[in-house]
Amino acid sequence: MASSAQLVAAKADFQRTLLAWYRAHARSLPWRDAPSLYKTVVSEFMLQQTQVKTVLPYLARWLAQFPDFAALAAAPEAQVLKSWEGLGYYSRARNLHRLAQAIAAQPEPPRLPAAWRELPGVGPYTAAAITSISFSHPAACVDGNVVRILARLTADATPFRDSASAARAFTPLAEALLATDNPGDHNQAMMELGATVCFRQKPLCLSCPVRGCCIAGQRGDPEDFPQLAAKKMEQVAVTRAWIEREGLLLLHLTPAGARRFANMHELPTAAQAGWSDDDVARGKLIAKKKRGITRYQITESIHAADAPRGKLPADLAWVPLTEITTITLSGPHRRWISEELSKRRRQMVI
Ligand code: SF4
Repeated sequence: MASSAQLVAAKADFQRTLLAWYRAHARSLPWRDAPSLYKTVVSEFMLQQTQVKTVLPYLARWLAQFPDFAALAAAPEAQVLKSWEGLGYYSRARNLHRLAQAIAAQPEPPRLPAAWRELPGVGPYTAAAITSISFSHPAACVDGNVVRILARLTADATPFRDSASAARAFTPLAEALLATDNPGDHNQAMMELGATVCFRQKPLCLSCPVRGCCIAGQRGDPEDFPQLAAKKMEQVAVTRAWIEREGLLLLHLTPAGARRFANMHELPTAAQAGWSDDDVARGKLIAKKKRGITRYQITESIHAADAPRGKLPADLAWVPLTEITTITLSGPHRRWISEELSKRRRQMVI
């Protein structure tokens, strides 16, 4: 068992055991099997908020469409957003597009974390991941997975108000344990351990390669670490309008300069369609959907509504239902619209 100091003192054993396990057990993934800087960057952006199994088909399509920084840099933003559609958190796609343009304009890509952090969408974790994996730069990656492992190895019961402050607190230990002769594999091994063994709930301690130096794993209370304050979720209710006429659906198009969802279509809120929530809520309920975004628990009620009165505002557009698949919709809205259209098709068959 090991306190932080004992763990650091025995770091050579820790690194050796971890790396041996990684080489024997690492999942086969496209950015590992045939690595390149571009694949590492794209996969790191996609994985920022999304699980590996969801990312894999998106990454395959993305690499076929935009095989390198130059191809991505030259693509129009609408095409980039369309390819990202369904992955959510679209600022990642815009940042990745702008990053590709910045890289394509330089004689060669930067090699140090500080230079990568100047680029759009790159924080400390992503900069460490890219530079350690692609350039063997000795930077430790510290994300939720790594925090969880380190807090359990040392049974550190410090309370943290959020994951960002926990990541900052564990960075010195992560750096002290880093195998500086092979930082890319070391970082990937830590991520792999967090993703496949040291689960948030029910970690597989009995088959964990580093259990010999893990206080919580040996003591049997790993789920008590790290001690993160529970997120306070704010409840938000949104009323949306399903307005249809003669095979056309009215959609809201977020303007190009908007901070979020720029150039994306969505079902309009009641206010965007020129109605009050109460007006729209009187219409037939098409669907009620709940989703969590960061600290918000959002309940969206979609009701059939009448077309807005008077001249249509510039940010609303009638889109033929037959062309819905060709426009860029935010992921949940594409799902909701598809569900409604499939429901109708089933009813017609019956
Ligand atoms: S022994 Fe258990 S708690 Fe410790 S690192 Fe391994 S899986 Fe995580």
